[in-house]
This record gives sequence, C-alpha cells and structure tokens, in this order.
Amino acid sequence: MTVGAEMHALVERMYPLCRSITGNGVRRTLEIVGEYLPLWTHEVPTGTQVLDWTVPREWNIAGAHITGPDGARVVDFADSNLHVVSYSVPVSATMSLAELREHLHTLPEQPSLIPYRTSYYAPDWGFCLAHETLDALPEGQYTVHIDSTVEDGHLTYAEYVVPGAVTDEVIVSCHVCHPSLANDNLAGIAVATFLARELAERSPYYTYRFLFVPGTIGSITWLARNAERINRIKHGLVLACAGDSGPLTYKRSRRGDAGIDRVMRYVLEESGREHSIVDFSPYGYDERQFCSPGFNLGVGCLTRTPYAAYPEYHTSADNPGFVSPDALADTLATCREAFAVLDRNRRYVNTSPYGEPQLGRRGLYDSLGGRSDAKQAQLALLWVLNLSDGDHTLLDVAERSGLPFDAVAAAAQALLGAGLLKE
Ligand code: ZN
Repeated sequence: MTVGAEMHALVERMYPLCRSITGNGVRRTLEIVGEYLPLWTHEVPTGTQVLDWTVPREWNIAGAHITGPDGARVVDFADSNLHVVSYSVPVSATMSLAELREHLHTLPEQPSLIPYRTSYYAPDWGFCLAHETLDALPEGQYTVHIDSTVEDGHLTYAEYVVPGAVTDEVIVSCHVCHPSLANDNLAGIAVATFLARELAERSPYYTYRFLFVPGTIGSITWLARNAERINRIKHGLVLACAGDSGPLTYKRSRRGDAGIDRVMRYVLEESGREHSIVDFSPYGYDERQFCSPGFNLGVGCLTRTPYAAYPEYHTSADNPGFVSPDALADTLATCREAFAVLDRNRRYVNTSPYGEPQLGRRGLYDSLGGRSDAKQAQLALLWVLNLSDGDHTLLDVAERSGLPFDAVAAAAQALLGAGLLKE
C-alpha cells in the first residue's frame, strides 16, 4: 500500500466516529492514532481555567432521531452524526412541524447536503438535515429524541514528541474535534500521524512535538498548561484541510517573516507545485491561538484549499471521497521537504574569515574529485564560507547563491568537519 493509501484508510477508519471538543469520540480517535504512535493522552477536568477560558462540560451522545406523523423516522443520527448539532442537550418531546423548524438547520443553496453545526457554549439542541428532506416533511406532530449527556468530565488531547538533538521545539498541531468531516479534520490528523512516524525514524535536530487537540479550546488548554515551554518553541505548523484536490495554501505566521514562513515559501517555490501564500489573519484554525499577541509564535498554517473556501466545507459532502490518497501524499511530502530544510537551516560563523581558507590543504577539494556535481559543490563551499558571518542562515545562502539547499547544507557539514565553521 502506498503511504497515500495508508493515510486514506486511516481517514476512512476515523470518519464514522462522532467527535466534538470533548467526549468519547475524541478518545476513540486518539486510541486509533495511538496504534500508529505512542501518544501521551491528557484528560483535563471540566471547570479548569485555561487562559481566558474554562474547560467545558463533557458531551457524549448515544443516539438521536426525529419521528414523523406516520411513525417513520425522518432523521436518524445512526445515518450520519452530522444530523445532530454538536453539544445538543438531551431532549424528548412531541411538537408541531412549526415548533420543530426552530431547531432544524439546512442548506437551501445545497439542498442535498447535511450541514455541520455546533452549540458548544450555549445550551441548545438541534438537528441538521438536507433541505430537500425538510421540504418533504408533512404537517403534523413530530417526536424528537436526543439521547445525549452534558456532564462534568474531561477535555481530552494528546501529544507525541520526537526528541531532537536540542530542546528547541517545532510544534505540529491538528484539530480532532469535528465529527464525520474528512478533509477538515481527519486529513490533517492522518498527515500529522504519518509525518510524526517518519520523523521518529530520523534523528532530527529540533524536538518535534505533535499536538492532537480539539480546535480553539484544545490549543488554549495546551498553551495554558505549557507556559514554561513556550519560549522553547521556535517554529510550528498547523495542519488542516490536507487532502482535497486543490493546490497547497500556506498561511504565514503573524510575524510574517518567521523561519517557518521563509522555509515554506522556499520549498513551495522550489518544488514547482502550484500553490498560494497568504498573509496571517486572526481567523481560521489554531494558528489564531499560537499567533495571539502574547505568544506571537512563528506558527503558520498549511492547507490545500483553505478554511471555508470550498463548497463541501462543513457539509456531508466533506466525506472520504472528497479526500484523495494522492493529495494526502502530496501534503505529507511538502511537510517532509519543509522540515528537511527547517531542521538544517542554521547560522554559522566562518572561523577563518580573513581571505579564503585554503580548501585543498584540508582535503575539501580532493573529496569532490570525480563527482559530477563537483562544480556546484565547490561553489557551495565558497558561498557558505563567504556568508557565514553569524547573520545569514543556510537558507539565505541558498537563496542568494541560487544553489540547491541540499548542496549548501552538505557544504556546511563538510566545512564544520574541517573546523572552518562553528555554530
Ligand atoms: Zn471546521
């Protein structure tokens, strides 16, 4: 199986679970991810103060349906977990169609699709259904039943850490709070999971911390509980909408010129992939929290078609068929390429800056003999020596010289080995 097909299979497996910002759907999802990665799962009690927020009561649901005047079920949670507004309080009642309509949500412009709606912080109940289903409902008495609980419990999130050579960290975050929505949620989880597995097989320079958190309240909870770690976070990426057929979109951090912003631009441009790069805005996914002014972390957001910009967004059409193995694999490859640059992109100082050091005497020219890219490797040595003044990163060297980053990084390794560079 290709890695794209493996990720798609993971999306399909997680798809039926009814996730929300708390509850057993998140736990079960994290158990499945835990089969791929040894996750560290946290349970934070209801009522815990987290920054300006409070961990809410936990929501769980066993079933829900609407029964029509003729006794037939016209809407059933068992058919799609999008049918119930997330965090609906329990209800068991009989009412007229007019009364029921107050609690029904449809998409008149997309009449065959079920919308996705939530009511996390205002106690309410509701059903979501296709507009064409609503149009076909006859007048009469309807029975509604939602078998849910909203009780003191926990907020669940998980972390996975790939230890690096240094304790400086790169965070990769994805949200785990959406029910049956494939691109918005599950695709990002799948890419993060496989990216983490790949990184764990290497010995990275940075420590990579993967966060599987419910949107907004989960990242806020993590930030509140990790105050002492914040100044170690050097870079980060929020992953979402990672599997649709659209081109890649990178949304810059609030800082706009953070290391991750430079690396993503370089990798997307060098790869020749169709892509767009957009500026930060305080709307979208958890970059909103990581880039809030008190933290102002160098965290960008990588998606394919961005947040809310595709007609399937937050509807029943965002199903596993909307996500393709090839797109998932392409997003994973982009992350892999970006982190390969990020992980080696450091500043060095030339220890012999007065005149060019004699490379031949140190075996640095000899070692290139015979190589078909000897000329490029030689140029890379000279560029790295020249620009290693403590100000320029290796990415600066690559961009200014026009040489591939790999050649520049290899030259830096050779010069470090010869004692001509220091960090
Ligand atoms: Zn969403």
